[in-house]
Amino acid sequence: MVASSLWIRLRSMVDTLTPAQRSALMSRIRGVDTKPELAVRRALHAQGYRYRIHSRGLPGRPDVVFTKRRIAVFVHGCFWHRHGCAKTSDPKSHVEFWQTKFESNVERDHRNQALLIRDGWRVFVAWECEVEKDETLFGRLADFLGPPRLSEPATRQSGRRRGVHATCNTAPSTTCPTRTSSARCGWRRWPRHRART
Ligand SMILES: [Zn+2]
Repeated sequence: MVASSLWIRLRSMVDTLTPAQRSALMSRIRGVDTKPELAVRRALHAQGYRYRIHSRGLPGRPDVVFTKRRIAVFVHGCFWHRHGCAKTSDPKSHVEFWQTKFESNVERDHRNQALLIRDGWRVFVAWECEVEKDETLFGRLADFLGPPRLSEPATRQSGRRRGVHATCNTAPSTTCPTRTSSARCGWRRWPRHRART
């Protein structure tokens, strides 16, 4: 889960609350349909993958679930889930409270992933910063998932063909799901999108 913009704003306020108020506020932290989550879902959908979201019956309620493939994808916010990247800042006050909170988040993530793996699931974690900046993310995710069942015939094998986006491996008739510029995806002559007929 990723902190919503609301939470980014509220984060500085949390320190002034009573424990009960803070607890109530924290319980609402599990934002859904956040920007990185939507970006991942949009990319997957554009590549022909079909999935369920926020599957309640599974440990940790994974953000994207491929039931038949038995694959669970989490889109983790770097701050809340302590990625260790530049976005993983440390609050300057109430250090102990935040330390406990973060430790329990990380512990819960590990526990949920272990439960899923025990039950025969494979787990992929997409970090917020990767969704934003790592142009290899969607390629790695596609490799992890295997070919989409509903894809257009061209997507996987046509990576070397002219007109196919090099990184996200998308056929010319679709938009780049990563929504990055052609230069960032390594494809310099990204053709204009043609309407599918
Ligand atoms: Zn990160």
